Amino acid sequence: MNTSTTINPAEFTHEQKQYLQGFFAGIVQRGIAPFVGHAANGLITNDPASRLPNHAAADTEPTWHDTPISDLSREERWKYEQDPFAIWDKILQYSNQNQPPTDDDRFRFKYFGLFHVAPAQDSFMLRLRVPGGILASHQLRGLAQLAEDHGCGRADLTTRSNLQLREFQPRDIVRVLHRIQALGLTSRGSGADNIRNITASPITGLDPNELLDVAPLAEAMQAYITNSRDMFDLPRKFNIAFDNGGAISTVADTNDIGFIAVRINEGHTIPAGIYFRVLLCGITGHRQFATDCGLLLRPDETVAVAAAMIRVFIQHGDRTDRKKARLKYLIDRWGSNGSGMARFLEETEKLLAFPLIRVPASECEPRGPINRSAHLGIHPQAQPGLHYIGIAIPVGHLPAAQMRSLANIADQFGTGELRLTVWQNLIIPNIPTEHLEAATQAIQNAGLDYKASTVLAGTVACTGNKGCRFAATDTKSHAVALARHLDARFPILDQPINLHVTGCHHSCAQHYIGDLGLMGVKVSGEEGYQVLIGGGVDNDQGLARELISSIRFTDLAPKLESLFTAYTLQRQDDET
Ligand code: SF4
Repeated sequence: MNTSTTINPAEFTHEQKQYLQGFFAGIVQRGIAPFVGHAANGLITNDPASRLPNHAAADTEPTWHDTPISDLSREERWKYEQDPFAIWDKILQYSNQNQPPTDDDRFRFKYFGLFHVAPAQDSFMLRLRVPGGILASHQLRGLAQLAEDHGCGRADLTTRSNLQLREFQPRDIVRVLHRIQALGLTSRGSGADNIRNITASPITGLDPNELLDVAPLAEAMQAYITNSRDMFDLPRKFNIAFDNGGAISTVADTNDIGFIAVRINEGHTIPAGIYFRVLLCGITGHRQFATDCGLLLRPDETVAVAAAMIRVFIQHGDRTDRKKARLKYLIDRWGSNGSGMARFLEETEKLLAFPLIRVPASECEPRGPINRSAHLGIHPQAQPGLHYIGIAIPVGHLPAAQMRSLANIADQFGTGELRLTVWQNLIIPNIPTEHLEAATQAIQNAGLDYKASTVLAGTVACTGNKGCRFAATDTKSHAVALARHLDARFPILDQPINLHVTGCHHSCAQHYIGDLGLMGVKVSGEEGYQVLIGGGVDNDQGLARELISSIRFTDLAPKLESLFTAYTLQRQDDET
């Protein structure tokens, strides 16, 4: 199609015009003031000029601006040829004409959170941003209506405490963007080379064991990103997590930046209090966990430091090879044996108005224990008399009717708040003791379960071949079938088993960190899996090892049954 046709604004629908007005007015997020103020003031630079050559941050090191255009990757050239955020005339045209985008515009659409999923489907998936995974009941209800009106009638919970809606036709995308904005949500920057949904411990603010409520930090980080144009100029995607040091993990060690709350007691050079360790360069699909970079930050320094680190990555990250464009590879390129990390921290410090404090991790109290089952079932909160209920959502599939039921339960028995977890499950907080029985009954009446099972409750799966062109297998259906099969035969294991099922080597479901990890492969033309075992995160950190290089899905259940039998017979004490 000829995408250069002149657009006549007079032909815009009412909703398209409304969306444009709202879009250019900017999207205001909640609860950000004290932190954003510090972040903005703490940075030497915070303007689009930081993207120009010879900026102070560049010093003597050539930046990506010095790379000949012909050497840039295909996606970088697309960004260079047209700013992805400057394609509104095309979006309106595609919408008006109900046409799928060209390859380059398909990439640019992802900056708006819109994924055209051809050839798996001829439709769009919309990925939202839900900072900290915190949702309000009216938002969930509104998304249910949107999914029914224009999509497939379902939301998918993701491994970044986020939501995706599927099967929107091109003609509906402007209306869809308008409606999520009306719900106080945004999808801006949720795909392509951007900072993905900011995760936080899902019971932060409620957790009796936490060191600090990190929700305000996640929200401040989101607000900083969505209101700073240069935060959308990354060479590749980027993940950030805030861990409250409490009972539930955010798998912070799988992120590019993982902030972990720690305590410093009296008797150190640093005043006693709560600080953050900073883990860098987690990318488990490339078999690397994030490691402690030696910094100790005050809570109100975290957003500014993350922004400065991202700006260093923007300036110096690889723009020629997509496989080498993540933060890990920049630091690897800058030197081995810690010299690359030291250089990265020096470059970061140049962009900050305060010094970075380096303190060995050994001076901090070790992170408290993680309860692998705490995201499911009934648990007391820090607030006396209140509880949260963790609800299993198998592989994150949530039909509109259940979305409404959960929103109603949150309103009727809680405070209208819901939390999403990185395990593709959901939590309803703030339920008084006297309402627990009625709330759990309502959950069961909605066809959902709040009790932890051996496998299904800890199962995550990527989109698979029902909606992703890279997938070798139908991951979600296979994951549910396998988990139900194993739960039926091993109903009372004291250790939950995390099953991670991913459809290709991109590892969106992080198969390297599962107790049991499956990666989709073709086996003589049939759907099958590579099988890995022994992965873990946090205190159980480890990359899963290959057990079976490839096996047909139809042969897999009996093999896993034998594996589980051997595990239950031979394990020692509470061996995972
Ligand atoms: Fe698609 Fe591969 Fe990611 Fe699964 S892991 S969603 S198949 S890219």
